[in-house]
Amino acid sequence: MEVKVVRKILDVNDAMAAQNRNAFGKQGVFVLNVMSSPGSGKTALLERTLSQLSPEIRCAVIVGDVATSHDADRLAKSGAPVVQVNTDAFGGDCHLAAHVIGAAASDLDLSAIDLLIVENVGNLVCPAEFDIGEDARVVVLSVTEGEDKPVKYPLMFRVCDAALLNKIDLLPHLDYDIAAARGYIRQIKSDMPIFDVSAKTGEGFDAWIKWLKKTVAAKSTAAA
Ligand code: MG
Ligand code: ZN
Repeated sequence: MEVKVVRKILDVNDAMAAQNRNAFGKQGVFVLNVMSSPGSGKTALLERTLSQLSPEIRCAVIVGDVATSHDADRLAKSGAPVVQVNTDAFGGDCHLAAHVIGAAASDLDLSAIDLLIVENVGNLVCPAEFDIGEDARVVVLSVTEGEDKPVKYPLMFRVCDAALLNKIDLLPHLDYDIAAARGYIRQIKSDMPIFDVSAKTGEGFDAWIKWLKKTVAAKSTAAA
């Protein structure tokens, strides 16, 4: 019975996600869903990403946390419109569901946005199961986490289009085996693009930004 209930929740979510995808598509908005465990540096990564995309690509952000607007306050400094979602109001959900994204997007002028970035709630489990109407998904892992996270949370890595290994500036201080981490990622998804980055120093951002721009452009070309 429990399985049936979960299936129903996901069916309802998929229908809402399709509505979102349609609405975003009509306005030519590319949606990127950024997921990770808490503390991997998603917000710092997005701060630097926004500064490198602007003004060429008009960005907006929906950021999800159970509580506080700390991340939205940081991201708003980029000048991009930012909507903070607190899932406290939705029972403290540990993910963003499609209806939540639909509601948050209604606070944005989609006609003035090329790229909508969603910073999902820090969690490697259920955000992977909830389609929000996005065009691409990326997962951020930091080198302060276990190398084997990809094999512990395989669904997250299966559904993502790219992986970022963040905080590489810390590598000299750690025993982290980055080759092992890459191996675990490719064990789950053999062709996964992997970007080693430091949101702090900017190292590795050229390749990441190039991939992101290419991915966004590929969709607008396909739609034209
Ligand atoms: Mg954050
Ligand atoms: Zn959840």
